[in-house]
Amino acid sequence: MNVADSQRVASALERLGYDATARAENADVIVLNTCVVRQSAEDKAHGRLSSLQPLKEKNPELVINLMGCMVGVKGSGEMQKVYPFVDVFSPPSDPQPLLDHLRSAEAQELTLHETEERFAVMDGDLLLPREARGNLVSAFVPIVYGCSHACSYCVIPFRRGAEQSRSIGTITQEVRALVDQGVREVTLLGQIVDRYGLDIENGPNLSDLLRVLHEIDGLDRIRFLTSHPNWMTDELLHTVAELPKVCEHIEVPVQAGDDQVLERMKRGYSVDAYRRLIDRIRVIIPGVSIATDIIVGFPGETRAQFQETYDLLAELKLDVAHLARYSPRPQTVSSRKMEDSISDDEKMRRFRLLEELQAGIAAEINATYHNKVVEVLVEEMHKTRWKGRTRTNKLVFFESSQDMRGQTVDVLIDWTGPWSMVGTPVDKTAYPSGDQPTLAAWGPLQ
Ligand code: SAH
Repeated sequence: MNVADSQRVASALERLGYDATARAENADVIVLNTCVVRQSAEDKAHGRLSSLQPLKEKNPELVINLMGCMVGVKGSGEMQKVYPFVDVFSPPSDPQPLLDHLRSAEAQELTLHETEERFAVMDGDLLLPREARGNLVSAFVPIVYGCSHACSYCVIPFRRGAEQSRSIGTITQEVRALVDQGVREVTLLGQIVDRYGLDIENGPNLSDLLRVLHEIDGLDRIRFLTSHPNWMTDELLHTVAELPKVCEHIEVPVQAGDDQVLERMKRGYSVDAYRRLIDRIRVIIPGVSIATDIIVGFPGETRAQFQETYDLLAELKLDVAHLARYSPRPQTVSSRKMEDSISDDEKMRRFRLLEELQAGIAAEINATYHNKVVEVLVEEMHKTRWKGRTRTNKLVFFESSQDMRGQTVDVLIDWTGPWSMVGTPVDKTAYPSGDQPTLAAWGPLQ
């Protein structure tokens, strides 16, 4: 979400004639876009912000813009006192405060019409930053802003505000614009992305949106994240299975494998319901890969309850598990009403146990790709190799002297590990069907 937000700001600044620089010392404007989902992210943001103060002292003309969840939708309040050298505070996803600030500095020299034209942010009318134009293969597109769910541990609803779906027309316009600028894959984003449209009366749902986007020529792949188990309808799963451009990859966090913990997290489902959902996903979408999120060390999580989570992960064998150690966040129910009772050492121990378990599972799943040919959408060069992803979101590296960026390439996988795979591009069409998928049979692509 922040990557998408930052791109929007960069693009708005470029329209005003600014250029990107890799060195903070050279900048006239610095935007620090922040995340506060866990204390560690917030600490990092405070660190970076403090490191900018000397630059401002050296160059009082420098405009510093603090953006994102550290500011939140309710405004800067305290922040202004802590960081008086910050010129502009912007809520998440909103470049306007910065543009207004720059406008007031420049306005005298421009006519009203010119200011309107240059400083307006048009929703859906997204011009990628220069660096990304023609180069970015896979783009993020927010479709639902904010969140109205109240998971007891989560600060996001307080900082990003209430759930608000963007209109299907705006999203389509934006995706078309991205495709015109070279993008081949979009990942639709929402805190609870499978609730898309439910906040609009008689609005479309995510299936409707997927069907509309599927019609866009030049767009090869569509993904979406993150889903909440309670809104993953069969209709949505059938739509994913049916539409060739929609990738068979689902991100649906469980957070914990114990009913009591789930109840205190206010997640709204039981472990068994999650289990049944995974079954449904696997039955309806053949070859699907599934990712989950887990929090270890939630207040009061006993060793036995943690063991339930461990056992659930071992049982379900999902492709990816994003692991986090519980971090108390301001305003949340868990931080106000529950004691952060699990020690840092114990949280780390639980984290490592799951990490090790999941590495084994991922290695096992990925090994099934060995000697198979997969479709890879190539994103960029990484050191000496091309880097891309399978439809199931597995990272694949391969070597080729050709310019492969943005292309869909058949790759024969000859090495797999828990986090990535390596292969050789092959020319499927040059070989009759039914051949064994070995390098000898397929022949390397020149
Ligand atoms: N709305 C999305 C993303 C939330 S943030 C969702 O529900 O999945 C991404 C992940 O951060 C969450 O899934 C959760 O696992 C983790 N997270 C959120 N709040 C946290 C907290 N207070 N402590 C530790 N991890 C947290």
